[in-house]
Amino acid sequence: MTDPVADPPELQILPYERREARVKAWDPRTVEVAAAVAEMIRRRRPDLVVEHIGSTAVPGLPGKGIVDLSTEVPPAEIPDVVEVLHDLGFGPQPGPDPWPPTRPMLVGAVMVGADELRIHLHVQPIGGDMPLDLAFRDALRNDPELKRRYTELKTAITGGNSVDGFRYTQSKTTWILGVYKALGFRVPAIQPPATIGILGGGQLGRMIGLAARELGYRIAVLDPEPDCPAAAIADRLELGGYDDVAAARRMAAGCAVVTYELEHVSLDLVRALENGRVAIRPGPYALRLTQDRLAEREFLEANGAAVAPWRAVATRRELRVGIAELGMPLRLKVSLGGYDGRSQVRIASDADLAAAEALLDREAAADRPMLLERELAFEAELSVIVARGVDGVSRGYPVARNVHDRGILVESSAPAGIPAEVAATATGLATDLATGMGMVGLLTAELFLMPDGSLVVNELAPRVHNSGHWTIEAAVTSQFEQHVRAICGLPLGSPELRAGGAATVNILGSGPDRAARAGGVDGALETADVHVHLYDKRRVFERRKMGHVTAVGATPEAASATARDAAARIGWADGAPAGATAIEGAAGGEEAS
Ligand code: ADP
Ligand code: MG
Repeated sequence: MTDPVADPPELQILPYERREARVKAWDPRTVEVAAAVAEMIRRRRPDLVVEHIGSTAVPGLPGKGIVDLSTEVPPAEIPDVVEVLHDLGFGPQPGPDPWPPTRPMLVGAVMVGADELRIHLHVQPIGGDMPLDLAFRDALRNDPELKRRYTELKTAITGGNSVDGFRYTQSKTTWILGVYKALGFRVPAIQPPATIGILGGGQLGRMIGLAARELGYRIAVLDPEPDCPAAAIADRLELGGYDDVAAARRMAAGCAVVTYELEHVSLDLVRALENGRVAIRPGPYALRLTQDRLAEREFLEANGAAVAPWRAVATRRELRVGIAELGMPLRLKVSLGGYDGRSQVRIASDADLAAAEALLDREAAADRPMLLERELAFEAELSVIVARGVDGVSRGYPVARNVHDRGILVESSAPAGIPAEVAATATGLATDLATGMGMVGLLTAELFLMPDGSLVVNELAPRVHNSGHWTIEAAVTSQFEQHVRAICGLPLGSPELRAGGAATVNILGSGPDRAARAGGVDGALETADVHVHLYDKRRVFERRKMGHVTAVGATPEAASATARDAAARIGWADGAPAGATAIEGAAGGEEAS
């Protein structure tokens, strides 16, 4: 029995509420609702063609039961159309990750008998994704085998559980992207000599740029420092902070795609670029989930990844309660902006409370809750880097074993020397997380290997990573080239190791802040298969990342010994004028310019 839908003139669009949804059987009433809404809109705007898309548009396909509708208009008319839809009772999309105003989704609901049916109304710019949505719908309507496989996939993902939240939406994307490809739609590759924009001009930006240059791309960089490491390899350097939207727009002008080398770029800036129709990869969603440690924890838990027991704490009271509940030793970390072990304190006894409270007060003043988590007695630190392309294809690098010293990475070697099942679990986990956030580009997962062989996720980075620098010489495709391939829509390269083992040792600064001049590079290079990378940072100071050494060997242990030995030969001269040979610690530490 189907309830009749109210006549179009009386169709009432009601407010929409976010709520838990479950995958359920197809409901034929959704078709009547779609037709009634389309008619209602046509009366106001006869030029608008409203199409029924999504699961409810495919008879027999299970889904969340939300009526997805889509219309296509010239980009300049989108605000007018949105106004008309507001008039009819539709509202803006709620939630933390709405579609941008250049491709909005409006929401509403209608009553059908005693049941409420919710509506998602997509307004697409001409030239956007609407043809893709229609082709996907028609393929599902016309191909029973495709429909069966899609049904199976949805059921497998949800296992009958609720489907709101982080996991469901993105988990289907790889499959859907595969169907698009089969239907003949593909995101066109960005070919050289197109310009790639990089937000951030540090060493990671420099190495991404070098890899991109080898492929023949041109490079634009945004960084506040005229002498930043990437300046030397950029065709164009736009000076500006990582939150300077105007400078970012200037940088992005003429770029075919923009990426970032660090997750501390402003989310508003990345959203502004996306709203300005710049292809930004990875997109704002991946950035939001990885730049804020608290959002990251929620995302990880929603995706079934193990994390250390944690609390969000904003006040001294919450801190004390958290300490009591979690038990020391603990780590208290800033939610935004920490790196290299900065901006976190260890709480091992009451003596550490004052330092913890000082940091908490500082963050509270800026209205930023902190992450309090149990310190884990791990057996080893690992990291795994996966690349994911615009077509949803992923490739994982061999897992690396990492050594940190006071929060800063000092050494990475690969392979990690862990059982094959653990390595496969790590790669599978990172791949699922990359899929879950719709990643395009590289995702790095920092992991703790626990004594029982289980894996706990410490942190995610939506980018190339220090623990993957060994891939430059020792993998078939370096992480930097892989990132460029992913964001440009090129096929991904092989991530396999070319040798039995490889190791990277970081070259850190030491001593006071002064002009940087390296010494000992000649000595470091005396061993064959040692490769020195210096980032040409103009100033050196204690524990600053200045460069790295990679060695390739028969085993990771052998490579590690060679790399350590070579790195130890490199030091930093004092601040005497160029040409002087004074070494670290010698008199005369004045700055040279
Ligand atoms: P950053 O952003 O500075 O890299 P991390 O959260 O990765 O911050 O912390 C840096 C290092 O501190 C980690 O690589 C690890 O060595 C140590 N660490 C961080 N959190 C924990 C924890 N919960 N238990 C044990 N060690 C930790
Ligand atoms: Mg870290």
